[in-house]
Amino acid sequence: MNNETLYTIASILSDCNYSLSEHLYIHVPFCRYRCPYCSFYSTIYLNDDAKNQFVDALIKEIEIKNFLLSKKIKTIYLGGGTPSMLSINDLEKIFDKILINHQLDKNAEISIEANPEDINKELVKGWQKIGINRVSLGVQNINEKHLQFLGRKHTKKQIINAIETLKNADFQNISLDFIIGLPEENIEDLKNNFQIILDYKIPHFSSYLLTIEEKTRLSSLVKKHPEIIQDDDDTIKNISQWYLWVKNSGYEHYEVSNFALPSYQSIHNTSYWTQKNYIGIGPSAHSYIHPCRLWNTSSLRTYNSIIKNDKLDFQYEILNEKNIFNEYIMTRLRLKEGVDLADLTNRFNKKIAQYFIDQSDKIPKEYIIKTNDKIYLTEEGWLIMDGILVDLFL
Ligand code: SF4
Repeated sequence: MNNETLYTIASILSDCNYSLSEHLYIHVPFCRYRCPYCSFYSTIYLNDDAKNQFVDALIKEIEIKNFLLSKKIKTIYLGGGTPSMLSINDLEKIFDKILINHQLDKNAEISIEANPEDINKELVKGWQKIGINRVSLGVQNINEKHLQFLGRKHTKKQIINAIETLKNADFQNISLDFIIGLPEENIEDLKNNFQIILDYKIPHFSSYLLTIEEKTRLSSLVKKHPEIIQDDDDTIKNISQWYLWVKNSGYEHYEVSNFALPSYQSIHNTSYWTQKNYIGIGPSAHSYIHPCRLWNTSSLRTYNSIIKNDKLDFQYEILNEKNIFNEYIMTRLRLKEGVDLADLTNRFNKKIAQYFIDQSDKIPKEYIIKTNDKIYLTEEGWLIMDGILVDLFL
């Protein structure tokens, strides 16, 4: 047991009147290659030694953070990086460690992000044995030319094989991740993507607009060739079409980038958008223990040193009321339900709540809707959300 780090975290939180978390995020920082658009922390998988060290370090961190986790865990989310690169043996070690002190809620959602090229029958069977019951498949795009632009090595055939393998193993809760708004993307391209969702009755999917993150290979390319980026009008036209297909196919657009059939909303991700406490473990992982945010080092080497020196490298901040309000507004307006006015007045003082209501009155009605009990953005509002938030923030 690491007394020093544990003591440090406990003393940071000592004035915070915090509650235990029912949600656990595990960051697996390995990838086979770096995709040119990606800004998440990950490193190329070099050999099993580095991976084994990482698993040992993760187990140490679980020991340290045990005291922050509730006895019953409602969600575990393995994200990355590429968690589907971990073997069943690695996953068993991690889960065994967690389950020494905690139990899974009977309806626990246990998710893993996976790359299509990793999926095979044995792996899927192993996941099910461990209790993983939700797979988020990084499809990104079904069109080969767009997969190439995104630097992804998998093919359409591998995507189909992965979905069929999951379906044949009776995996009910499958989510597909897409990136849209790509150069020269037309309605036909988008339709091909949407067709996969319909053909396989996929209960949940996410579609993220391509964003150009600083310090990525894509941002250097765009600096040299700004013309490759899709025109805003085309993007809006294509997304509006995507939204229409979603609506006509029975999916709920429950979050700005997420869509689900009834009862398939992601419980883990919803915990982020509704200010629940969550514990993150692994390099670069964030934890939120209201009103404190902690984040681990983004260096695997430094992270792994926890094994030798028993010390976790992390930073933290205690959020002030302004930060908390701005994050609350930003995350709640991502959700279809928007801001519940009773909840808003419960959490913040009257003056702040009234400020939000007054500011939202200034936003054109096509972007924001106000009822007696809530304020939420329309789909048109979601398309220009960043601009709207500037007017709503404290
Ligand atoms: S997009 Fe996924 S697979 Fe590609 S580098 Fe980022 S984390 Fe790795």
